[in-house]
Amino acid sequence: MSEEFSTKSFTKEIKGLLIDPLIFSFPFNCKCNGECCNYGVYTESTESQLILSIKEKLLPFMDETQSKDIDAWFEAPEEDEDFESGVAVGTNVINGKCTFLDKEGLCSLQKLAMAEGAYKWKYKPVYCILFPLTIYEGSLTIDDEHIDRLKFCNKQNGEHMTIYEACREELQHFFGEKNFAELEAYRKEYLNEIKTGEINAQ
Ligand code: SF4
Ligand code: SF4
Repeated sequence: MSEEFSTKSFTKEIKGLLIDPLIFSFPFNCKCNGECCNYGVYTESTESQLILSIKEKLLPFMDETQSKDIDAWFEAPEEDEDFESGVAVGTNVINGKCTFLDKEGLCSLQKLAMAEGAYKWKYKPVYCILFPLTIYEGSLTIDDEHIDRLKFCNKQNGEHMTIYEACREELQHFFGEKNFAELEAYRKEYLNEIKTGEINAQ
């Protein structure tokens, strides 16, 4: 996140998170094969525990490029206020990619959920679902630091939509129906205020 990052101008709060209005205009196109998974992800401790609890059924969805040693899957827990429990647990990077990413660039957690006929993101950590958005200092914002360090992410030619539109399904999932409707209403209100010159775009 850039050094100038501040939530001071964020006025709308939904589900306990301030909303960075830049998400409504930031151009984005998602066109690579999951480079975002190459650094692993921070999980809530409940998420890493859930993953460990399904280890037996997860193992068959992992290939020879992934570790079958469950002790190698996660880093040591560390304090992080952006996590509900105050503790974040990172997934380890093995063979240059998240321990749960297979050689085809697919997430084993998602493969398992889909094979079970369950909701595709049932086992996926929330930060994986949200990226290229993220939660930072109590706000929903753009993970520009991670986007910038990736070689291909949002750097391909072609049509760009807003990051909000690119992440619509993920936002619906994260916020739930009622809170997402509030986010939609805020977006309309915010864009209308920009159009009428009541406020300046962020
Ligand atoms: S979010 Fe970025 S890194 Fe991840 S798949 Fe899309 S373009 Fe690639
Ligand atoms: S858990 Fe799955 S989606 Fe998340 S970084 Fe690892 S491979 Fe990617």
